[in-house]
Amino acid sequence: MLGLGHMARTYFTIAVIGATAASPLGAQGATRDVRAPISAEIRDVHYDVTFDHASASNRRLTVTTTFTVAGSGPVLLSLPEWTPGAYEISNFARWVEDFAVRGDGRELHWSKGDYDTWRIDPASAKSLTVTFTYAADTLDNAMAWSTRDFLLLNGTNVFLYPEGRSLAFPARVTVHTEPEWRVVTGMHAEGANSYSAGNYHDLVDMPFFIGRFDLDSAQIQGKWIRYVTYPQGSVSGAARLTAWDQLKKVIPPEVAVFGEAPWENYTVMQIADSSYQGASGLEHQSSHVDVVTPLAIGSQFQPSLYAHEIFHSWNVKRLRPADMWPYVYDRADPTPWLWVSEGITDYYADLAEVRGGVTDENGFYSTTAAKMREVADTRPVSLEDASINTWIHPVDGTQYVYYSKGSLAGFLLDVMIRDASDNKRSLDDVMRELYGTVYKRGRGFDANDWWSAVSRAAGGRSFADFTSRYIEGREPLPWDRTLALAGLRMSRPNVPRLGVYTIVDSSGVLVTKLEQSASAAAAGVREGDYLISIGDIPVIDEQFAEKFRAKFGGSADGSPIGLKVRRGGSLLTLTGKLRFAPGDVELGRDPQASPKAVRIREGILRGTRG
Ligand SMILES: [Zn+2]
Repeated sequence: MLGLGHMARTYFTIAVIGATAASPLGAQGATRDVRAPISAEIRDVHYDVTFDHASASNRRLTVTTTFTVAGSGPVLLSLPEWTPGAYEISNFARWVEDFAVRGDGRELHWSKGDYDTWRIDPASAKSLTVTFTYAADTLDNAMAWSTRDFLLLNGTNVFLYPEGRSLAFPARVTVHTEPEWRVVTGMHAEGANSYSAGNYHDLVDMPFFIGRFDLDSAQIQGKWIRYVTYPQGSVSGAARLTAWDQLKKVIPPEVAVFGEAPWENYTVMQIADSSYQGASGLEHQSSHVDVVTPLAIGSQFQPSLYAHEIFHSWNVKRLRPADMWPYVYDRADPTPWLWVSEGITDYYADLAEVRGGVTDENGFYSTTAAKMREVADTRPVSLEDASINTWIHPVDGTQYVYYSKGSLAGFLLDVMIRDASDNKRSLDDVMRELYGTVYKRGRGFDANDWWSAVSRAAGGRSFADFTSRYIEGREPLPWDRTLALAGLRMSRPNVPRLGVYTIVDSSGVLVTKLEQSASAAAAGVREGDYLISIGDIPVIDEQFAEKFRAKFGGSADGSPIGLKVRRGGSLLTLTGKLRFAPGDVELGRDPQASPKAVRIREGILRGTRG
């Protein structure tokens, strides 16, 4: 998963302008029956999904499940409470309507076993058909959403499973839709709009796009990649070429980490809709689903979103914490390892961008420095606690810090492994070893697997102290001594400071607070003004901060600067004086770096060792 806050930060946070991030969906608690009910065994499971003009006009789909009852007693059918990767309880049974069961040609009685389970008495019938409609009206990449000509559907939303039984049952899916509409899914095709999965985990990990959308394909390193976008025309012309160029650059460095692409083909599925604030991706084993504001198309965030989600096809969809192996669907599935599954995934997204040439060395430093600032601006929280807490969406600002802080922890481990091994090994070796051993032997990793692989890569060095201080503990990450090992240093240069806080509303960039005696207040800017331009640079410009620094960073303290504001119905031109103050932390090359530190720095940026 990757989303929201990152997008808001990319767009609206500039040196003098604050940002407001959209809040995530509210958490809902879950209580469970202490007994463990078990369904009668069922076989030959077939799901029919119908989405056509008629159902689209109601924003509904119809799902019919047919199966054979292979045991005695009641059949208990459940829907998942969550979609793996979206670590929150959603209770997909909420959107079910008109649930009905027929057996051997007659209607059968059912009742709820619990809020996500239907209890059916087969009354000696062997061949059962369960039908319901499902409301597809939630624009979220873990859920179901439809328009007059399109449906996003996740298997977790609608595919019933027998409670308490093995999830290793094979299943088939047939999609019934308009002849001119298309179907895209990662599932194995068995015929026209007919698909199969070997087990329930695979079944619900292959979302569907049904309807009208754009689709094209290209081979990258010998594997077919499909790029599927809705609505038609939403990513066209130069924007589509840019997206393909980014995919061609970020995928090879990720394959290089593990030595193989784990999928036969991979599908990027993207919805752009102006009702959606920000941008969010959700990973699957051979696809991912992005939901984005149209503003995100072609933004700097786009390649990092794609690189992040695609890296997940190794890290979390395959190499996964033991706590989530296998996934459970009837309750929350917390793990203290999201700092690896999400944070280190985000570190590798940054590495894929710089190693693939989407960004340059300075781009990598500025992304890393932004993560350092985000962590510094957040309450101290241990990576393990932040990983577990995400399920309850804490309101203290720490909810998603395992992304940025976990990414930085991965960066530190990479530097320490390279330093201890004279740059002969790296974090790449840890990822590749665990993927090749733990995952390929069919299990999840635990603390012993992870830390012994890290220690082995670092020539036997112990990471017990590092773990207790920075992973289990809340101590600030040890930048001073670690950055130098990679030929890097932090600095905090003086920058022009206007001392104005803003939000973006429908009328523009609104001043909400002023630092008294700082430049803007001294020039006469007031709370309630709308900022138009500063030093002739429009504040709405996405590149405002860069342009402002470029133009005024070298000016003398006290130089004059013009500000244009809108106050009521009038446009005012104000004149103030530039004032300098210590700015944000920046990361860059250390001019005194040793030859070894330079080799380590180059190794991180290029993906090389030695
Ligand atoms: Zn993620």
